[in-house]
Amino acid sequence: MPDATEPGAGQASAACPAGYRILDVEGLRAMLADVASLRARLGGPPDSWRINEVSDGNLNAVFIAEGPAGAVCAKQALPYVRVDQAWAMPLERIVFEHEYMRRTGPHVGALAPEIYHYDPTLYCLVMQLLSPHIILRRGLIARRCYPRAAADIGEYVARACFATSALARPFEVAFDALSLFARNQALLRISVDLIFTDPYRIAPRNRWTAPYLDGIAAEFRRDAGLKLAAARWGRRFLTCPQALLHGDLHSGSVMATEDDTRVIDGEFSFMGPIGFDCGAFIANLLLNAFAQPGHGGEAAACRDFQAWVLSQAEVFWARFSERFLALWQQEAAGDVYPADLFADPDGARRLQQERVAFVDGVWTDTVGFAAMKMIRRILGFAHVLDFESIADPAVRSACEAGALCFARRMLLEPEAFPTPAALTAAAASAIAAA
Ligand code: ADP
Ligand code: MG
Repeated sequence: MPDATEPGAGQASAACPAGYRILDVEGLRAMLADVASLRARLGGPPDSWRINEVSDGNLNAVFIAEGPAGAVCAKQALPYVRVDQAWAMPLERIVFEHEYMRRTGPHVGALAPEIYHYDPTLYCLVMQLLSPHIILRRGLIARRCYPRAAADIGEYVARACFATSALARPFEVAFDALSLFARNQALLRISVDLIFTDPYRIAPRNRWTAPYLDGIAAEFRRDAGLKLAAARWGRRFLTCPQALLHGDLHSGSVMATEDDTRVIDGEFSFMGPIGFDCGAFIANLLLNAFAQPGHGGEAAACRDFQAWVLSQAEVFWARFSERFLALWQQEAAGDVYPADLFADPDGARRLQQERVAFVDGVWTDTVGFAAMKMIRRILGFAHVLDFESIADPAVRSACEAGALCFARRMLLEPEAFPTPAALTAAAASAIAAA
């Protein structure tokens, strides 16, 4: 990994394009003031705007700006990984995030923030401020129920994936997206290494709750069957461009209130297998359920919340599958499965069987990718707050070991999880037995 220089606000490394500078609060104020529509949206004089940096993700700088008339959220790509400035990262990732939002926005509507402005020189995206939303992961850790979130995310994935697939559109449109998003290689490299490879080998960026998980980490590195399963999912990730994916759809990429749900942070977007987005969401529900005993409180409250959070995997899948099938029946205008070949009753019946089989295949992918996502969050580089916020390493590692063993079963015995209900029932038993 080449070293990056470490520019401060207003500076940029030599490799940065002309005109790019890292924005601080005052730099952002000037930039917002320069754009008439943003100035009008915020209202009042620019020096009255309250601007705060709120970055809590790994990669980028995020600010909230509030004026007398309105508010915005601004996200700027930095020439490095925000939490590790020695790790250089191309600014273009925000181009992909913007393109992803632009292409899926018309289909997902109010399930994502609205884009207000994009500055291609500053690699800065200005969007709707989501308030009083919080990151879903934080809400789930605090045992707050979000009655809409899982169904909304099911709806989101169905709409975004169907609309960007070759089922919905002429292949030329899907192939244009394929060629554009094939350039998102720096972030795909992160996914390939951190999800599909590093957790199964000694890698400098890996970490886990040592010494408690040393044994299981070593077992994972030795298990050829497990590594083969992981490699198969890696192959599918790279060679199955079914639809434009979000690419990082965990509970930290969802902002929610009790009655509104939005997906943010599409910088890992690429054309891939739909089950990867579904699996990311379900994996993070499972991780939350496995982490709950580490967060103390009344045993009954813990059990009730675990049952609720697991049930949300079923809610997610029910909505996703129902909506994906409905969209395919109603809005297919792609080159695959041309409608006029299946217009007669027998053709219609066979085509419907084909659709159901496709969605069943997405479920199989969902289970595999969910397992991969669970493992990488415990043995790899980037961990999740659900476990990280458990202070006692003995308690934390016990929860993590439960999730790891369950994910290993998902990889090695996928036939044991033919439906979401089977998956959540098995997870509930595994948690109860721990
Ligand atoms: P990163 O790519 O660095 O992970 P994110 O897109 O996840 O950045 O954003 C980082 C944080 O900024 C989020 O966790 C959230 O707290 C906040 N945030 C991002 N987008 C919005 C928004 N539209 N409205 C309000 N807060 C936001
Ligand atoms: Mg991000």
